[in-house]
Amino acid sequence: MNLLESLYQTWKSDYPDLPLEAYFKQDMLRLGIAFDASALTGSQEYKTKDYFIFSFDRIPLKDMSQQENWRAPEEIRFSGGTWNLKPTVVSVRINPESPYKIIRTENKIFITYNGLEISTVQYPDVPEYYKKTYRTEKKPGEIAPVIEWGYLIYLTVFRNCQYFGKDEECVFCDINHNWRQQKQSGRPYTGVKPVEDILEVLQGIDRFDEIAQAYTLTGGSVVTQLFGKNEIDFYGDYARLINEKFPGRWISKVVTQAYEADDVKKLRDAGVQIYHPNYEVWDERIFENYCPGKARYIGRDNWNRRILDSAAVFGSENVIPNFVAGVELAGPCAMESVDAAITSTLEGVDYFMSHGISPRFTTWCPEPYTTLGDQSPAPLEYYMKLLRGYRKIWKSYGLAVPPGYGPAGVGNAVFSVSAFMDVLE
Ligand code: SF4
Repeated sequence: MNLLESLYQTWKSDYPDLPLEAYFKQDMLRLGIAFDASALTGSQEYKTKDYFIFSFDRIPLKDMSQQENWRAPEEIRFSGGTWNLKPTVVSVRINPESPYKIIRTENKIFITYNGLEISTVQYPDVPEYYKKTYRTEKKPGEIAPVIEWGYLIYLTVFRNCQYFGKDEECVFCDINHNWRQQKQSGRPYTGVKPVEDILEVLQGIDRFDEIAQAYTLTGGSVVTQLFGKNEIDFYGDYARLINEKFPGRWISKVVTQAYEADDVKKLRDAGVQIYHPNYEVWDERIFENYCPGKARYIGRDNWNRRILDSAAVFGSENVIPNFVAGVELAGPCAMESVDAAITSTLEGVDYFMSHGISPRFTTWCPEPYTTLGDQSPAPLEYYMKLLRGYRKIWKSYGLAVPPGYGPAGVGNAVFSVSAFMDVLE
């Protein structure tokens, strides 16, 4: 049996209740993707990585010998092959050492596992609005890129975090390091994006794009003030101006820290519909050690209480906190086993879902400049058990598909940094 068949057999024996597509997707997300030189040609014809917030790569930009940072696609969509896989969108995390490698021939692009072909692959199109010119000299993909196969406009309006250095930054997050390496590589990588630039490019999206359905306002935490504003006012002002100019045009989402209900009401009054107060990891000890800034300034108990309280403001289905799945198996606080990590993480999922709140997760990527950057990714077994447990709890509470993520289900989902939407049906 070759390595690909062996991987397939593991799925068939251990996870037949979950889509094979989700299995491959999670493995590609945790291990990253390598590119043959042939697969990086003609990069003007597809949408390349815009580095919309973090690097999400397994190596630093300076070590990318093929300049993958400028030439790799933002995402891939694999389909077909031996198992007739349904179209599945996966965010690209560059790793030249990955067993998953993309190759291009004259007729097709395909993805391999240890040299064995899995299926064909598509790259995302360049959105129409990327091809237009704007008053700002910065490219539309720098100001207002899209991800999730064009579904989500990703507005990282503050590309740094005021939790700074080892004692405050979350140990899995490279937002500040990524900003530095992007600047060094020659990207404009605007620290704070002027709202006029955002509104101008959104005007282009409004006119020339029919795919994007939602936008997310996000960026690093504001602990003190930024341009004289606290975090709520800083992000809320962008939302208000966008929603005044384009009322109802896109689903409005915002990521901030967890705040008291009176504060988050300001976001709602600014037109925000979906609130993401990301709790990152459920286990108390790990939260305190891996999110030291958040733990010190807000604290886990306050954080989780505020998540629940914000349901009264937005409606429970519109509060969707993220966790970074897999960090609980890495570093000095690593749990002793996959099952221990699953038990803990699903306890958190159950806690929120029992209040009508569906958390969602991203797949942890050990980015090299982070404290956990030298750790191995979490095993595939962990992600499959997480998907299984997540879906089971979600069904048991009779919850709806989380809004703002596009369609759910295998073959339909576009959420690209974990397979949680691929398994919900
Ligand atoms: S709060 Fe943590 S995860 Fe969020 S941007 Fe800052 S360091 Fe990164």
